[in-house]
Amino acid sequence: MEGAAASIDWLDRAATVKPRHELFIDGRFVPAASGLTFSDIAGRDGSPITAVAEGGTEDVDRAVTAARRSFDDRRWGDQAPAARKRVLLRFAELIRENRDELALLESLDVGKPIRDTLSVDVPSAAKTIQWYAETIDKVYGEIGPTGPDALSLVTREPIGVVAAIVPWNYPLIITAWKLGAALATGNSVVLKPASQSPLTALRLAEMASDAGLPDGVLNVVTGPGSVLGDALARHPAVDKLTFTGSTDVGKSLLRAIGESDVKAVTLELGGKSPQVVLADVGDLEEAASAIGWGIFYNSGQTCNAGSRLVVHRSVRRELVERISALGRELAPGEPLDPATRLGSIVDERQLEKILEYVRLGTREGATVMTGGRRVRAETGGFYIEPTILDGVDNRWRVAREEIFGPVLTVTEFEDEADALAIANDTPYGLAAGVWTRDVNRAHRLARSIRAGVVWVNTFDSSDITVPFGGFKQSGFGRDKGMAALDGYTQLKTTWFDLSGR
Ligand code: NAD
Repeated sequence: MEGAAASIDWLDRAATVKPRHELFIDGRFVPAASGLTFSDIAGRDGSPITAVAEGGTEDVDRAVTAARRSFDDRRWGDQAPAARKRVLLRFAELIRENRDELALLESLDVGKPIRDTLSVDVPSAAKTIQWYAETIDKVYGEIGPTGPDALSLVTREPIGVVAAIVPWNYPLIITAWKLGAALATGNSVVLKPASQSPLTALRLAEMASDAGLPDGVLNVVTGPGSVLGDALARHPAVDKLTFTGSTDVGKSLLRAIGESDVKAVTLELGGKSPQVVLADVGDLEEAASAIGWGIFYNSGQTCNAGSRLVVHRSVRRELVERISALGRELAPGEPLDPATRLGSIVDERQLEKILEYVRLGTREGATVMTGGRRVRAETGGFYIEPTILDGVDNRWRVAREEIFGPVLTVTEFEDEADALAIANDTPYGLAAGVWTRDVNRAHRLARSIRAGVVWVNTFDSSDITVPFGGFKQSGFGRDKGMAALDGYTQLKTTWFDLSGR
């Protein structure tokens, strides 16, 4: 924690912060057409932060129309690559310059510890925008090997109007993944943040505009997902939908697109990632720490959280004891206190859902090794202790369904074949961890686990240079890395006849 940040009284600052709260359409803030607002609640104490515009289908239409116009007249896509790069680099700089404000808004909205939003979320968002800015003048087209009588150019073109729907667990980071790749490739965007976390999205749009992004290229609509998300999926002027959120909503968006028209789609959905620990795991303390943080960080509200510990019988007891000790150490606290390492759950509904899963786990036969209780209820906020459910059968609901809270299930295995079968016995395929000192075994398991990311002897390590996304019901398409650019471009073949006929 940097000294300056630690000395700031974030509670004082929170009392005076003035978040943007209207829709951002065609370069300016506007109220919802209906004039309605909804109350944006802080997870830390359940208090209203501000009233935010409650957009409806008319507002979606306004935002899509602005995006469409800005795409069709090429005010962004046809600018020289160096000019677009300058705008996005300035955007990244503005994110860094406004670090404290963005971190505070994110912590208030989501209940994340201010130490994380300052040191992880805001810097990561800035780095992502910068990284994609730097790709703009480094991606080349191709010439097809079509022989001497033809010249066939294979070029990448932006897809058009991109609707980006994002969740509340990492609003800044996930929004930056989508904006970075979509804007770098010359698209126009309508962004819909989750109702629980609209504040940083609105401020980011203002910063992009201040950095020189032309009006209409980035629009933000806030309001109920079921109304706005559905309207975006069905809007005929939207060319691409990129969604990060739950598998159920992802499926409903596919249905909406199927019933309306043909759109390109990327879905980044839920997960139930296994942590496979073999008998020859190396340093048990190191593994316990990474596995514990892999589920408890962000209070378990992480799509790739390692929520299923699949552990060899010989090391189970000691490993579970060590992770339990870490869980007891990580008592949730006030998110705006720089010393706090675990904050609150995003809202009451999510807290209740997690508590219900803990009750279900005990009914199914699990033993609560640690945690399981709501704490700090006197604050009005939504806090739960890190929780471990031991003795879980992988067929139980607590092992199959995404809890999206700091709850680790523990399932034992006898041999490697069992471990692999349990790891893959899930509808999801977002990520996995493998812990062993045997490089052959590590490689074998990593190849056989059906997941988009497999970490070996580490967990949750990440970098903007490598792709992220899932197999199976965790979705398709990828965020991050150069691979994400494929999702925001389409290939065009232009064939010139050179035969002289
Ligand atoms: P959610 O699916 O409830 O909401 C995601 C977004 O969709 C929000 O903006 C929401 O307003 C909107 N939405 C809600 N209902 C909708 C509907 N009927 N039609 C259209 N849009 C709708 O998810 P959440 O609770 O915000 O986030 C948690 C989920 O996101 C978890 O399942 C988590 O695993 C997943 N997630 C996945 C990734 C990934 O990269 N794979 C990353 C983060 C989160």
